[in-house]
Amino acid sequence: MPPLLTVNEALTLIEAQSLPLAAREVPLREALGLQLAADVLSDVDSPPHDKALMDGYAVLSGDDSAERRVLEEIAAGATPTQTVTPGTATRIMTGAPLPTGADAVVPIEQTTLTPAGLVRFSTADHQPGQHLMRRGDSFRAGQVVVERGATIRALEIGICAEAGCGRVPVIPLPTVCVLPTGDELVPIDEKPGLGTIRNSNGPMLAAAVREAGYAAREMEVARDERQQLASAIAEAMESDVVLLSGGVSAGTMDLVPAVLTSLGVQQVLHKVSIKPGKPVWFGVKTHDDRRRTLVFGLPGNPLGSFVCFQVFVRPALSAIAGRGFAGLRSIAAKLGREIQHRGDRETFLPVRWVGKLVEPVAWRGSADLAAWSAAEALLRLPAGVTDLPAGQTVEILPLNLEFP
Ligand code: AMP
Ligand code: MG
Repeated sequence: MPPLLTVNEALTLIEAQSLPLAAREVPLREALGLQLAADVLSDVDSPPHDKALMDGYAVLSGDDSAERRVLEEIAAGATPTQTVTPGTATRIMTGAPLPTGADAVVPIEQTTLTPAGLVRFSTADHQPGQHLMRRGDSFRAGQVVVERGATIRALEIGICAEAGCGRVPVIPLPTVCVLPTGDELVPIDEKPGLGTIRNSNGPMLAAAVREAGYAAREMEVARDERQQLASAIAEAMESDVVLLSGGVSAGTMDLVPAVLTSLGVQQVLHKVSIKPGKPVWFGVKTHDDRRRTLVFGLPGNPLGSFVCFQVFVRPALSAIAGRGFAGLRSIAAKLGREIQHRGDRETFLPVRWVGKLVEPVAWRGSADLAAWSAAEALLRLPAGVTDLPAGQTVEILPLNLEFP
């Protein structure tokens, strides 16, 4: 038996297959959270005219008249008709175009009106350019305002709108289909009898996909029967990513790898030195139209399924969405108490925060999903013998919600 792939080796193989989806144009309002696939250029200078940044009076900065005649009033959206000359001023509102002649704005708070209707300023020296923005100060027509590869947030939506870009080229999010398999599985609303258990992986994996910020379709359980499995998987492969659960270990009813191969899914890896999650399977189907589907055969045991999702599937989804293969988004943390660990596989243990430290959550093997409810992160431990004292810095994978 060749040695099992390490987690890092498996991640490298998965990364190589996790290509970003082809770019497509979407209405700006639907682009939130997506990656921009091409530079966005403005079709206008912004601002389109010199404009006031405060309510007040547009004046000539060099004019030192004590009182000035008010020429007109320009609200935002109106256009000036008169030229400001020494001894005159134009009442102007924030955002309105600056009249010709004027090169400064005096805020309304620094002015008073005389009984004769002249304006008097409480300050004398007005700097050229004060409280105004020149045409094109923000950006020029033809200028790149948001670069390719940027994540589109509220700010980028605003900038694109300002630049006249109502449709943007983006990398779409992958569509994901969850397909649980197993003869022993019953739905949530049935009480399991001897030898049967409820299908918890289907709802859990679909939710994990959503937690990571993607939409998931959850199919009904497929039975351990070649024909049924094949047609369910074929249907699931209309999505960009398929998450199967169960049927990938060494049992006689573990038909998933053989059925996937018969459907033309190229196996990339099967079995990784990871605990829980060793039986994990991964392959790629290239469809006749060159569209690709990544297929993950996740272990049936719920924690194996969960850990393999966090470790292998999440980074792949990120890469397909054009966000880069994030790898394990792990962070450093300090242990709150000592851990002694022995194992021939790299291990992910549930931990929780106790103040600023992390401590393991007690659990009884990879079917003990309930105990993991206290988990706030996964602690990554190497294969072999590990004795870690309290205070030791360790690598953890936070289990935070990320829906956009
Ligand atoms: P398998 O890999 O199909 O042999 O399944 C391994 C273990 O996981 C078995 O004990 C299964 O009963 C359990 N299992 C498989 N699928 C699910 C599921 N959808 N929900 C909960 N447990 C499951
Ligand atoms: Mg099974």
